[in-house]
Amino acid sequence: MDIVVLKFGGSSVANNKNLETVANKIIDFKKRKKDVVCIVSAQGKMTDNLINEAKELSKVPNERELDALINVGEQISASKLSILLNEKGYKAISLNGWQAGILTNNKFQNAKIFNIDTKRIINELDSGKIVVVTGFQGVNENGDITTLGRGGSDTSAVAIASVLKAKNCYIFSDVDGIYTADPNKIYSAKKIKQISYKEMSISSNEGAKVLHDRCVELAEKYNLPIIAGSTFSNENGTIISNDTVEKNEIKSIIQNDNIVYVTVDEDVLEKLLKNDIKFGEYIVEKDKIHFTILKDVKDKLIKVLKNIKVETIDTTKISIIGIGISNNSSILKEIIPTIENIRDNIISIDVSAYKISIQFNKIVDKKYLNEIHKKLIK
Ligand code: ASP
Ligand code: MG
Repeated sequence: MDIVVLKFGGSSVANNKNLETVANKIIDFKKRKKDVVCIVSAQGKMTDNLINEAKELSKVPNERELDALINVGEQISASKLSILLNEKGYKAISLNGWQAGILTNNKFQNAKIFNIDTKRIINELDSGKIVVVTGFQGVNENGDITTLGRGGSDTSAVAIASVLKAKNCYIFSDVDGIYTADPNKIYSAKKIKQISYKEMSISSNEGAKVLHDRCVELAEKYNLPIIAGSTFSNENGTIISNDTVEKNEIKSIIQNDNIVYVTVDEDVLEKLLKNDIKFGEYIVEKDKIHFTILKDVKDKLIKVLKNIKVETIDTTKISIIGIGISNNSSILKEIIPTIENIRDNIISIDVSAYKISIQFNKIVDKKYLNEIHKKLIK
């Protein structure tokens, strides 16, 4: 079998007009006699809207029920796309997580896939159909629906591509590849041809919204190249694969404004671990503890630490990512003068093998990112 896996993001399937473009793209692949499996996200902002509606009912919604609610977005996209493909004369079938055999653990809201039973997908492909699978969701051992974490459709696609032994996995969105910075914020951002799994997964972890971090880790494990490209153009995208050459090159500069800096006056490490609250940089001082979390877990944190005094501030972290960066001391020398005006707002600078991160104590203007980008990306 010559299987290709194509994943389409939320804006690609946002409305009927875009679905039309997606369907034509799929048909192009099908015409090249490929067995085509598509993975889709929910339409536009549907997942955000469903979460907001749930939060009007409960500030920290029951996680099982939230999964039962938000997984429906993907089902709407998958069925609409299948309706359209059938209308265009191509046999297609939509499958949701459990129909596609996607088995996960019990961690609602952030479930991990541990097995995919491919029988159904293979049978449908064998009968000549295009298979459209809902991203982002699976089923646990009790038959309950789980979701894989925000942006998790990418991980669904890579997991399915790996078990089906596809040659590569295309991830289509409204951007035509991976850029050195968010092209919506930095107009001089440059598209890159290739980025290593390591660099990409660090970028995703640091807040680049292009790909789900776990999808990149999974692709690395199976040595599956990912091609990130645009639904709306035929331009070459960016390949995410193993390192090809060891070049000291900066691949990505990220400003993450979703970092909450938390201060508490007692050790809460066990509580964070017990409640699966992901944190970064846990700093222990004599009578204070500091750590960072992402904005979307703030309400959960406050609920978990309900009898403890918790101070939070919304902050920015800027990260510069590339192989060999820690050996290149000139990078910091170059960027420090560009952030002279906010020098006093730096809380910490973290230099590690693949990245330099600067944590600030407030949200900083994006003009600094622009300056840093101008200095480092020539
Ligand atoms: N619809 C889900 C989200 O918005 C999953 C995804 O788009 O990958 O997070
Ligand atoms: Mg996404």
